[in-house]
Amino acid sequence: MEDKILERQLIRKRRARIRKRKRQIISIGSLLLIIFLIGSCSRQKIHNKKLSKMNLGPAMEWYIDNNLGLVSNKKLKSSFDIAKIPLTKVNSLKGHFLVKGSNHQNMASAYAYNAGEINSYIKNNSYKGNQKIVFLTFDDGPNTNITPKILDVLKENNVHATFFLVGKSINKKHYKIMKRILDEGNSIATHSYTHDYKTLYPGRVCDPGAILNEVKATDQRLAEFFGPNFKSSVFRYPGGHMSWENTASADSALKNYGVNWIDWNTLVGDAEVKSQRPTTAEGQVAYVEKNLAKNSNTKIAVVLAHDATGKELTVESLPEVINYFKSEGYKFGILK
Ligand SMILES: [Zn+2]
Repeated sequence: MEDKILERQLIRKRRARIRKRKRQIISIGSLLLIIFLIGSCSRQKIHNKKLSKMNLGPAMEWYIDNNLGLVSNKKLKSSFDIAKIPLTKVNSLKGHFLVKGSNHQNMASAYAYNAGEINSYIKNNSYKGNQKIVFLTFDDGPNTNITPKILDVLKENNVHATFFLVGKSINKKHYKIMKRILDEGNSIATHSYTHDYKTLYPGRVCDPGAILNEVKATDQRLAEFFGPNFKSSVFRYPGGHMSWENTASADSALKNYGVNWIDWNTLVGDAEVKSQRPTTAEGQVAYVEKNLAKNSNTKIAVVLAHDATGKELTVESLPEVINYFKSEGYKFGILK
């Protein structure tokens, strides 16, 4: 009898122990779950905080959309949420983020120079630095045929350049090329909207209002594609600043709008009058050397070339032009 009572007591005690252990397991489990939930919530918060510090504007969304294929259909596209992209992936793309309010990506920052300063150097021969720097510049693009070939040569030689685009040519047909320009570490500048001398300089005299309006209209086109974070502060007067009258008032209108103009101090000669235009690749390289030598300070070189229809010779000579500057110890910069 006593044995049975003892046995029942033992069973009860054992059951109680089991219930207690179950309760302990449940409470520890719940605690761990709560810790996990709080943890992941704050991880998401930190993630979002980091993302918000990264200047992720429409340009970045556009970039991810176009490059990673993360957003493959329209339905997903409309619900596109950058916060859902793992930070590791975002970090790996940082180099391709647009420098906010500028004309190039992060990866190009190390060799991007202020156009106003560089222009002052070439106008006044006032550069005091030791490092020689060359700025290859291409006007009148984008062009579906020539621009990609120029980009190929730049990439093969691991150097970069500045592309002065004409506003009226900035359209969907050229978006791929424009994307390449930035993605491959180059910068984009503007070269008016119409490139029409009569509109910009009636009677060879600058019309500051017309010039500013064309810069703004070109900016508008660029922002439609690259997003509002994109802004080019670099402008080149079609035909060159040196060619027109009343430039001072146009310059100050541009300056007030936050834009610097720049000409060049040497050129491949691909838009010279027929009698002076080089007809061979070697001729173009010699033209660059000859014109650079006219400057009393040759440590800064801004080379004018064109990526427009018919400029095949410019494509052909480019590797030699690059070799020339490399062998002379120049670093390749872009203008911002
Ligand atoms: Zn031009």
